[in-house]
Amino acid sequence: MKFLMFGAPMAGKGTLANMLAEDYHLPTISMGDILRESIESGSEEGKIAKGYMDKGVMVPTALVAKMIKNRLAMDDVQEGFILDGFPRSPDQLKVFIDDHVTDIDVVVNLEVPYEVLLSRVVGRRTCKDCGYIYNTSWNMGYKKCPKCGGEWGIRSDDNEETYKTRYEVYLKETLPILDYFKSQGKVLSVTGDKDPRQSYENMINEFKKSEIPGLKRFLEQR
Ligand code: ADP
Repeated sequence: MKFLMFGAPMAGKGTLANMLAEDYHLPTISMGDILRESIESGSEEGKIAKGYMDKGVMVPTALVAKMIKNRLAMDDVQEGFILDGFPRSPDQLKVFIDDHVTDIDVVVNLEVPYEVLLSRVVGRRTCKDCGYIYNTSWNMGYKKCPKCGGEWGIRSDDNEETYKTRYEVYLKETLPILDYFKSQGKVLSVTGDKDPRQSYENMINEFKKSEIPGLKRFLEQR
């Protein structure tokens, strides 16, 4: 099954993708993580991407399209995956369709009010080693990553100023492309304003109610 996580920055796409991946043994593909890895590797492409990401604006389509196509060609994602972060604008949607980048079975549209999104920005921590996401507002007191023991890092774009730009870019560039997936009958909207466990349960309940082909069978595989 091929899932696409959709929603505003800080909506919980990565968190729910990781939970679903663990329960149903699917690989995750995060465009943001691919970009951050290319920055860490010190590559030329990473240097270009960093300038855009630190401002909270989109990295050029040609660059992200090349990276995602390479990732989607790898063996481990041929049977299914949970994708987060591509396509994210009308020109990326055009590439997605024209170049047959991949097919998608289900689009999970996470709906969270702006005030809640903003309240999550200052608390987000990301494990420097495995990418595990934690938010201090969950009050679990993790001093280190509970998954691998790694140190917490704070993403350079996780501050309120940059967040406002990221949210505006989302409204203007990303949200309009949801109509394409809606017209294909693939979108399931999920309320994601509570803690991760609750949002995850909401998502699984939407899956159970859905008539999207293959989804009920997928749930039985756990
Ligand atoms: P979030 O969804 O919380 O903003 P991501 O990790 O998905 O976090 O993205 C962080 C940044 O990476 C974005 O602000 C943007 O600069 C860049 N980025 C991620 N995905 C894309 C994409 N598909 N196209 C262009 N830029 C992207």
